Amino acid sequence: MMRIILAKPRGFCAGVDRAIKSVEKALARYGPPVYVLKHIVHNAHVVEDLRRKGAVFVQRVEDVPEHAHLLFSAHGVGPKQRALARMRGLRVIDATCPLVEKVHHEIRRFAAEGYTIIYIGDAGHDETLGAVGWAPDCIKLVGTQEEARSIAVANPEKVVYIMQTTLSMVDCEEIVATLRERFPKIAVPHKPDICYATGNRQKAVMSLVPEADSVFIVGDPESANSRRLRDIAGKLGKPAYLIPDAAAIDDAWLEGVEMLLLSSGASVPEHLVDSVIRHIKERRECVVDERIFVKEQVHFHLPI
Ligand code: SF4
Repeated sequence: MMRIILAKPRGFCAGVDRAIKSVEKALARYGPPVYVLKHIVHNAHVVEDLRRKGAVFVQRVEDVPEHAHLLFSAHGVGPKQRALARMRGLRVIDATCPLVEKVHHEIRRFAAEGYTIIYIGDAGHDETLGAVGWAPDCIKLVGTQEEARSIAVANPEKVVYIMQTTLSMVDCEEIVATLRERFPKIAVPHKPDICYATGNRQKAVMSLVPEADSVFIVGDPESANSRRLRDIAGKLGKPAYLIPDAAAIDDAWLEGVEMLLLSSGASVPEHLVDSVIRHIKERRECVVDERIFVKEQVHFHLPI
């Protein structure tokens, strides 16, 4: 009989939970439409569900009618978007995750002190775009080891690294080691930037991968933290698949699998994990064995 090892923690983090509840509360309080800048979280199912309830997703602040309600997503925005929203008289609900805000605060502080900031993150990701917007002239973006090896800074004595919250802990360690070699005086943030939720989901997967024959990570291809979970399992030598939902499962992936590790990214609602389990149970006799790596008790107040 197949065993599904269900990793915990998985799924929604406190920042995503807060952002989604904020949209729902804004819709209940003000009525539709409530505008949301970019995708509230990187999950097509969540976005579609909120769209049905009356949320309108826009790519630019300029696309929002004047004086309407606009919600900033958990990924955060830079000062330009905030100023534009003010100019248009928008009523802003700021659902930027407090842990992303912490990163913005660090960027402002180090920039004000004259540091060159090496931001370790994914180019083009919404969180990166928002963070870089706070000090574009002081920030250099590094996404890979190669870039860490080749990056040039004006004053190697005054440089700091700051990270996107959803990076792979292992990859980051390697990049940071390279930066330390190149800039021995590099400063570090007071608290780690990779957030508790990213860290816990990665550690849970890392600890369970050795038991598994194969790994399914439920998550949207657009979701950075979901992709990292898949990559981590893959690097540990197991077949690892990123599946947006049960429909994406190829039955051939289940052949010969006795132990399947299942987890999900921080933007994934639990009903998608449930439907994956149902899908597998329809095809294989199996038991579900939930393994708790750590209990999370992080909650953020709603901004509305
Ligand atoms: S992944 Fe971390 S930083 Fe991003 S929204 Fe969730 S708790 Fe906040």
